[in-house]
Amino acid sequence: MSEVRTIGILGGGQLGRMLSVAASRLGIRCHIFEPGAAPAGDVAWRVTQAPYEDEDALRAFAESVDVITYEFENVPTTALDLLESIRPIRPGRRALAVSQDRLTEKTFLNEIGLATAPFADVPDEAALEAAIARIGRPAILKTRRMGYDGKGQVRIGDGPADWTGAPSVLEGFVEFTAEISVIIARGADGAVAAFDPGLNVHEGGILRTTTVPCGLPGRMTTDAVLIAARIANALDYVGVMGVELFVTPQGLIVNEIAPRVHNSGHWTQAGCAVDQFEQHIRAVAGLPLGDGKRHADVVMENLIGDDLDRVPALLAEPRVQLHLYGKGAPRPGRKMGHANRITG
Ligand code: AMP
Repeated sequence: MSEVRTIGILGGGQLGRMLSVAASRLGIRCHIFEPGAAPAGDVAWRVTQAPYEDEDALRAFAESVDVITYEFENVPTTALDLLESIRPIRPGRRALAVSQDRLTEKTFLNEIGLATAPFADVPDEAALEAAIARIGRPAILKTRRMGYDGKGQVRIGDGPADWTGAPSVLEGFVEFTAEISVIIARGADGAVAAFDPGLNVHEGGILRTTTVPCGLPGRMTTDAVLIAARIANALDYVGVMGVELFVTPQGLIVNEIAPRVHNSGHWTQAGCAVDQFEQHIRAVAGLPLGDGKRHADVVMENLIGDDLDRVPALLAEPRVQLHLYGKGAPRPGRKMGHANRITG
């Protein structure tokens, strides 16, 4: 058995909550570190509510656990430096550095031979016109850091371009036919296990549904998995990673890497014997990975804001597995839960 008895998780949202539940099934307890409200705290062994600048709190947190992981990749570097001086952080710092910064991320992906949207560095507003001239229109301007769920993004069409207010990258607009993602796990021994790619539909920049099987030809789903494995190996990654891809007539283009369990992998809770959360806990704890085999067809639907009103109907529906995150009041755009509908 693993010697890991306690895992520290940076971030206390729904991902931390579901990681904590998965860990508890393996006899492992979780300590959550979260500056704000922590729905994960309801199901975890301990919660530290403190800012990432509180060195005493960070030190006590690290000393109480065997290994540290995260459900949120934008943890400040100074906090990570301190934590890492006390306990290992998995996945490692390289994965964090690459995924925290869109410019570093795209440069890394190109360096390992993977296709991305064409991009240009836009350090300030003065550099924007030249970048647009190079990349062309339409394009999307994205802040290098701290963007998620379409936040920190400006679409650039024919008219004058708005500025994001922070160092950014300009991306050429990809005419994709579909968006898919691969959830892949890599163990401390280098073993890799991937889940089937899911088809993702977004609304207003937020994931609405993930469907498996994704309906793409087998050749393409194999390519998608190989791309994710190449990224995981290049980063010497330990844990679960989400890789978002655009499907285009010219092939697959990598949009983004998430160095953590991912919303588009929630279907694995109903579709696989070992879901993405348990897989991540196994990897971080140094346990053997489960396989990623899918035993059911699943449509995962996010319950956002007022979708919560549909809970009674969802509870009455056969073959629906409901997950609610125990958050406070629903707000527009706030992820309150998800439903995994088994379709075959
Ligand atoms: P991101 O925050 O980078 O994941 O972007 C959020 C969503 O915006 C993606 O899931 C796509 O639907 C869309 N998007 C992002 N980048 C591009 C791009 N270069 N071309 C076309 N659509 C994009």
